[in-house]
Amino acid sequence: MARDERRRHQLAIRWKNPWEPQWMPASLRDTINNRYHSRDFNYARSEYLRTRMLFVGLVFTLLAPLWLLVDYLLLPVELMTSVAYGRLGLMLVLLGVLYAAWNSQHKLSRLRNSLAAMMLAPALFYGYLVIMYGDQLNSLVGYSFIPLLIIAFLSVFPLTLIESFGIGFLVLLTQVIALTLTGELTTAYGWQDLWLLFTLLGISLWANHSQVSALLRLYRQASMDSLTGLLNRGILLKQLEQLYLEHQKQRDSKEPSSPITLLMFDLDRFKKVNDTYGHSIGDQALQVFAQILRSELRKNDLVARYGGEEFMAVLPGTPKQDALEVAERIRAQCEQAFVLAHDGQRVHFTTSIGITQVRAQETLEDALKRVDSRLYMAKHQGRNCYVDADLPPGTSPVYS
Ligand code: GH3
Ligand code: MG
Ligand code: MG
Repeated sequence: MARDERRRHQLAIRWKNPWEPQWMPASLRDTINNRYHSRDFNYARSEYLRTRMLFVGLVFTLLAPLWLLVDYLLLPVELMTSVAYGRLGLMLVLLGVLYAAWNSQHKLSRLRNSLAAMMLAPALFYGYLVIMYGDQLNSLVGYSFIPLLIIAFLSVFPLTLIESFGIGFLVLLTQVIALTLTGELTTAYGWQDLWLLFTLLGISLWANHSQVSALLRLYRQASMDSLTGLLNRGILLKQLEQLYLEHQKQRDSKEPSSPITLLMFDLDRFKKVNDTYGHSIGDQALQVFAQILRSELRKNDLVARYGGEEFMAVLPGTPKQDALEVAERIRAQCEQAFVLAHDGQRVHFTTSIGITQVRAQETLEDALKRVDSRLYMAKHQGRNCYVDADLPPGTSPVYS
């Protein structure tokens, strides 16, 4: 086999993202930001994030007024009124944040902003007290503990490193500003304070990294098809259901709803490929096809191995007219692709495609049935083609 050909073949099997920073270990690349996270993983992570935020937020909200009992025992009387007002304000802000988190199901960026507000509110409260009453507060462990507590709490959340560092940085900045205004930034006390916060932030970042890595590992094991690395059927259907519900909600609220287009693929005469060249060559063809799908679809599209040699792509926000071009590109690429048999012979394969757009007023099952029947029609129109419309009534398909 020519060296060039072998290389092309290998490249075809091992798909490489050209934008991937190659110098970074894969585990770090996965946790530094959510660039390589699928839409579905973002859904799952946002659910974890939201549950924990609601719990921690509730603890913070209850502690804000309850701590007044401790204040009553420890604080000088002249500080009580202003601190009580401050605590009341803090409690109201935290309640607002809790309300926002409650209403942000599956909205990752809104949850991130709410979390930043939840962490910054107590930090600002503490910063304000330090600036106003620094001398009287420093001796009280309960108060100087607040920034440390906030940074430590970051470790509870499945945050990416950038998210966690961003929030931690804002808390640290608040502390630096407070220390500057009280003139303590350059004192041993100030340095010790910041050193402790930095160390704790480092530990929290490590915990975030471990948490997101573990979640990703579990998620990948549960959601991926092991041969092709695409989503499995169960996850695709679950996520399609979520998209469909969003679509319905938009429609019911009279907002312009974004289209959802479904593409269903079935490799042509695949049994023959297996029978002629062996199952392992068939497996390689499935991997190459999966890679064509990945390279032709966008990050936001969902693509899954739906069954043995059947695949499904869901294109949110793409009208059927645009999806036709995508289908044609995939069909044409498939025609060009090949795997090498054990004797070096090129094994070509083709795909038939059914296409449909989810209609208003229909169930998801209706749309799935329609795309399946269009795939069936593509098979009967001779294979290696796509079908995006039903036959006119009374017409029967040409069987080949
Ligand atoms: P058609 O054009 O009508 O789709 O013909 P076909 O031969 O592809 O028909 P059918 O769908 O009945 O056959 C699917 C074949 O796909 C059967 C099986 O041998 C093969 N297949 C299913 N899963 C796998 C797999 O994981 N690996 C391999 N190598 N082959 C598979
Ligand atoms: Mg087939
Ligand atoms: Mg089939």
